[in-house]
Order: sequence, then structure tokens, then C-alpha cells
Amino acid sequence: MRIVRFKTKNVNPQYGWVYQDKVGQIQGDPFGDFRRLEPEFKLSDVELLVPCLPSKIIAIGKNFPEHAAEMKSEVPQLPVIFLIAPSALIPSGDPIILPPQSTQVEIEGELVVVIGKQCRWLEASELKSAIFGYTIANDVTARDLQRADNQWARSKSFDTFCPVGPWIETEFEPSDAIITSHINNSLKQMSSTRDMAFDPYQLVLFTSTVMTLNPGDIILTGTPAGVSQIVDGDTVSVHIDGIGSLINPVQAEKRFIKE
Ligand code: MG
Repeated sequence: MRIVRFKTKNVNPQYGWVYQDKVGQIQGDPFGDFRRLEPEFKLSDVELLVPCLPSKIIAIGKNFPEHAAEMKSEVPQLPVIFLIAPSALIPSGDPIILPPQSTQVEIEGELVVVIGKQCRWLEASELKSAIFGYTIANDVTARDLQRADNQWARSKSFDTFCPVGPWIETEFEPSDAIITSHINNSLKQMSSTRDMAFDPYQLVLFTSTVMTLNPGDIILTGTPAGVSQIVDGDTVSVHIDGIGSLINPVQAEKRFIKE
């Protein structure tokens, strides 16, 4: 099942579900008890929103060996987790705004785990019921600022730096799915989730030993090799087989910092 958040001119933001090229409303809580109503809106007529409302965005660094190598680093012994501000979220279709502070903004296409229920210290046997589904993110990064700072909060949390969507696929099987990223029509990243150092299940288990995970929280599982710079006028498309495509145009920030 594909879960979206959407709005129209006459319908307030809410959860829905996608059936072929139509969207139906959801009555109740998609993370609890709910009923699917008949699809009545054309997908092309609704505005898709970020597909869930995370209390926190957890991200994983250096989880693909080839990406760690291109960063002149190695896969760590335990997952490296960091946080991205929820204010950085945008849906598929919205523009990524290049901030004037950076001259090197890069894309990172990633598989996202969406948490389904509140959990801490998960056991492996509880994993399937703790995961609501999967979606796609672009962990946009100001690479020059990431290098300049000793941690990554600034370089990863500019407004618009966390496109997520277009929907949550609840039936997705994450063991061997191809992730690709294109800038315009040029292929930049291509890898299988099979190449992850720590698979999505290990990442959820590990994270749950650190912090309480809430329904709708998301875990970005790390990017393959091929991270590449974007400039004003580009369009980025991250595709994962079995989920869909997250597509965002790129624009330069219109205001400038006074030195
Ligand atoms: Mg990343």
C-alpha cells in the first residue's frame, strides 16, 4: 500500500492512499486504526506533501563502502548516526534552495525507513511490526561546510535540504533494491541496498538502543558512491525500484549574506 499526505484547494492536509492513478482519503490514524475510503482524487490533481511528520530525522553516515572510500574514509565499526532538522523537509516537486554560504552543494540519494510505533530497545523479532514502510530521501549536503565544521548539523539542515517522498510504500522489501540518482538526465549514483554495510533492520535496532523512536520518525540509511554537485536550474531524481521517484528542481537562494 502507498501512503501519502496530500492537500487540494478544498481539502486540508491529510493522509491518503494511492490506488493506481488515484488518491483516497484515510479515516483514522495510518499508524494505528484506520479505514481507506474510496479513491476519489486524481493523483495529478492533488498536491503531495512530505508523506509523514517525523519528530526527528535520523541519518546514517558512511554506510556504503564505495561512498566511504570516495570520502577518503572507511565504514565505521558501528553505524554513525546524526540528526537533520525537520524544518529541512520538503516534498517531491518542491525546489531545493542553494544557500549563499556554500559553493558545493551535493546530492545523496537514500532509502528511508519509516517507523510505525513507539519503540526502544527493540528485539529482532519485533522489527517487522516496528517498521511502517519505506520511502526515498535526498540527503542534500553543503560539502564545503561539512568539511569546515567538525559536525554536520549546519551542512545537512539548511531549509529544503531534506526532500522526502513521494509516498511511503508499506510492502517494500529492502534486501536488494536498486537506488539510482540522476542530475538532469545524467546518471550519478547506482547501487543496491545489498551493498549497505549495515542493513535497514540493523540500523533500526541500533538506533532503538539509543533513543525512543516514534511513529513517523524516519531513518535515512546512507548514500551510495557518486555524490555529485547540483547548481541552479538542475533537476534531481532519486529512484528506488519498488517505491518510485523523488524529483526536485534546484534554485539559487535569491538573497545574499552581507559580509
Ligand atoms: Mg547521507
